Amino acid sequence: MSGDKRLWQFHGGMPLPGHKRVSTSIPLEATGIPEMLIHPLSQHVGSPAEAIVAPGERVLRGQPVARATGYVGSPVHAGSSGTVVEVGSRPVPHPSGLSADCVVIRTDGEDAPFTGYDALTNYETLNAPALRARVRECGIVGLGGAAFPTSVKLNVGVGLKSLILNAAECEPYISCDDMLLRHRAADVVAGAQVMLHALEIRHCCIAIEEDKPEALEALTARVAEIGDTRIEVVTMPAIYPAGGERQLIQVLTGHEVPADGIPADIGYLCQNVGTAAAVASAVLRGEPLISRVVTVTGSGVRQPRNLDVRLGTPIAKVIDACGGYTESARHLIMGGAMMGFPLNHDDMPLIKATNCLFVASAEDVRPRPPEQPCIRCGECARACPASLLPQQLQWSTRAEDFDEVEALNLYDCIECGCCDLVCPSHIPLTQYFRYAKTEIWNRRQERARSDHARNRFEARKTRIDLEEAERKRRLEAKTRALGKASQDEDTRKAMIDEVMKRVRERKTPDSAEDTRE
Ligand code: SF4
Ligand code: SF4
Repeated sequence: MSGDKRLWQFHGGMPLPGHKRVSTSIPLEATGIPEMLIHPLSQHVGSPAEAIVAPGERVLRGQPVARATGYVGSPVHAGSSGTVVEVGSRPVPHPSGLSADCVVIRTDGEDAPFTGYDALTNYETLNAPALRARVRECGIVGLGGAAFPTSVKLNVGVGLKSLILNAAECEPYISCDDMLLRHRAADVVAGAQVMLHALEIRHCCIAIEEDKPEALEALTARVAEIGDTRIEVVTMPAIYPAGGERQLIQVLTGHEVPADGIPADIGYLCQNVGTAAAVASAVLRGEPLISRVVTVTGSGVRQPRNLDVRLGTPIAKVIDACGGYTESARHLIMGGAMMGFPLNHDDMPLIKATNCLFVASAEDVRPRPPEQPCIRCGECARACPASLLPQQLQWSTRAEDFDEVEALNLYDCIECGCCDLVCPSHIPLTQYFRYAKTEIWNRRQERARSDHARNRFEARKTRIDLEEAERKRRLEAKTRALGKASQDEDTRKAMIDEVMKRVRERKTPDSAEDTRE
């Protein structure tokens, strides 16, 4: 445990007002089970899950309703018992605003459990693939907001030095990890132990910002209680965005993750503390991921707080559980004030990635002053925690020079918004970078589609050419065979003629004798 561990600094970033206490004064509680649960099939990074239930089917709490497809995939489980009433398209919380396929369950109030997953309390006797399989079948994904399948992240191979559990929670207003640690520190620490075993390493660092004293106390008390010397708790200054994976590793270790690499390349693996608690539930109690802690905050909601909510609960019901909207509510945002994205309405479900619902008033989200030309002051580059050149990135994006945008390491941009905050010309830089990422993705998709079409065309042409060649070969063979048969026929006819001739010749003297008699 350490409050005096040597720490490093990352480039850029800034201290921001936390606004955490807005939502931490009321203890964590679970919400009730809503009448309807809506489970999107795609609520994680990777391939969407595939529904394995049909309307009319009864399901139990925790029963899989959609199976994972592909290596980077995750199944989806029923949030409570009831009857499947629909498998179809519904609005889902996504920056695109598009709808997506969902399994809709009318709950029966019984909350009857599925018992298909044993508690693996003997996990220390199991090997890494068995533990990863359990994490995958229980649908665990990163709960810090990225929703990357945890089983894939745990499959990093050998050479790892340390597991880092991220409790920094640097974004203003969000306090779900803080409240999780205050109430369920034992689960987080147990999850760390399970992952250490699965990764076959002997060091875990749980990193927490110093503005969460209650969570820090609960965490350090639990680590001291179990006396596991492999686990170290480290406090760090509250600098936004220290909770970014790359920034956190740099603060803790002084090492930078290469621009085109991942933390495992330099020996580290980061997981969110909520993910660790979910891993502990899946392995030690056989509980799939069917609920999560979510912060509901902002001056647009009557009773800001944290709730443990069943996944699939309509967002409107979650807001109701917090006393509903205030008169001043203007914007509903999924995620925090800095990195979240707006939702058009609340008739959509809470998903695995929903760490925060921020209901902002007009005061909270003041209109941005009109954009002015860039004055090349360089403030954006000084503030960027990813050491990017936002000014150049913006120019290249405007020019639609996406090769240059990629060369400027756009994909290292974590969309933290620091550059926006400091830009004296009020240029919405982060919006440009989101647009550039979407555009590059669309173009890649388009290129992939045309490559696919060209490959199909070429494959078809090759097949037709081969068939034609085969047809010609057969024809020639047949012609040759016919020619030979015709020759054989001529030979046969000649032989018959020869025989007939001989017969006639033999008959001729006899006939003469007959005549003489
Ligand atoms: S939004 Fe991107 S470019 Fe801007 S400061 Fe953050 S990481 Fe850097
Ligand atoms: S902060 Fe704004 S004005 Fe200054 S260089 Fe960056 S984009 Fe230009």
